[in-house]
Amino acid sequence: MDAGAAPAVLTTIAETRTRIAAFRRERPGASIALVPTMGALHDGHLALVREAKRLADRVVVSIFVNPLQFGAGEDLGRYPRTLDADVALLAAEGVDLVFAPNAAEMYPDGSAGTTVHAGPIGDRYEGAARPGHFDGVLTVVEKLLGIASPDIAVFGQKDAQQLHLVGRMVADLDLPVEIVSVPIVRERDGLALSSRNRYLSPEARRAALALAESLQAATRAAGGGVDELLAEGIAAFGDHDDVELDYFVAVDPETFLPVDDGFRGQALVLVAALVDGTRLIDNTTMSIG
Ligand code: AMP
Repeated sequence: MDAGAAPAVLTTIAETRTRIAAFRRERPGASIALVPTMGALHDGHLALVREAKRLADRVVVSIFVNPLQFGAGEDLGRYPRTLDADVALLAAEGVDLVFAPNAAEMYPDGSAGTTVHAGPIGDRYEGAARPGHFDGVLTVVEKLLGIASPDIAVFGQKDAQQLHLVGRMVADLDLPVEIVSVPIVRERDGLALSSRNRYLSPEARRAALALAESLQAATRAAGGGVDELLAEGIAAFGDHDDVELDYFVAVDPETFLPVDDGFRGQALVLVAALVDGTRLIDNTTMSIG
């Protein structure tokens, strides 16, 4: 860990481009990694930063609460914004540059005129509950890639559908960047770290364990096939009255389509639930059959 100089914190696209061009001039051939975030950083984000540091010579972290990926009635207004604390954490990790624009810098007309469409998988699971969410995500990721022109961009497996769709976008649009993923970082009791965990009361925090526990139950049942693991995973929510399950689904990691009962092999199991009004997601890979 390099607890050295604080990173430059830049808020404009022009300054960020200039600084990144300087990185490339100073060390020809040096590689640059981008870690896109919405801030309110925790150890899950820092795992991405450490992987970026391991893989690249320079690390750029973006912090932007992207209005385009929030629907009406979602938590855009109250999403935690903790820039000073975030920058202190990133300084301790030896990050070179923080790009922290405001919405007007990213969307000067108030919204994006041209957007990226996530395609059919973008309408499932998280996309079914949050229409337009993944179009918003992909649009901002495409913009951030255009601004930072990184060699590598690092994403968490916590947002598995997002990771899949970013990979699809990069392949489908022939974007010159390598997408790297990092496993989910969890609390000791299994809860996946999330900036939204800050919303949880102590009781809701306990109830939120239902997600990780449902995945553990499904993993134990996976030898019995798809229907059995889904039944066991869903049954784990029976113990928690205050948790509203949205979906619990096993998908083929390649296609992100649901697998049939006869499926054998590696599947990704995705879960989403509302815990005291806070939407939480989790997932795990398991071997079925
Ligand atoms: P966010 O700030 O929530 O948009 O997340 C920024 C990045 O951090 C995304 O690529 C997430 O998948 C990743 N991330 C968030 N939480 C975790 C976690 N618990 N473990 C690993 N990566 C995470």
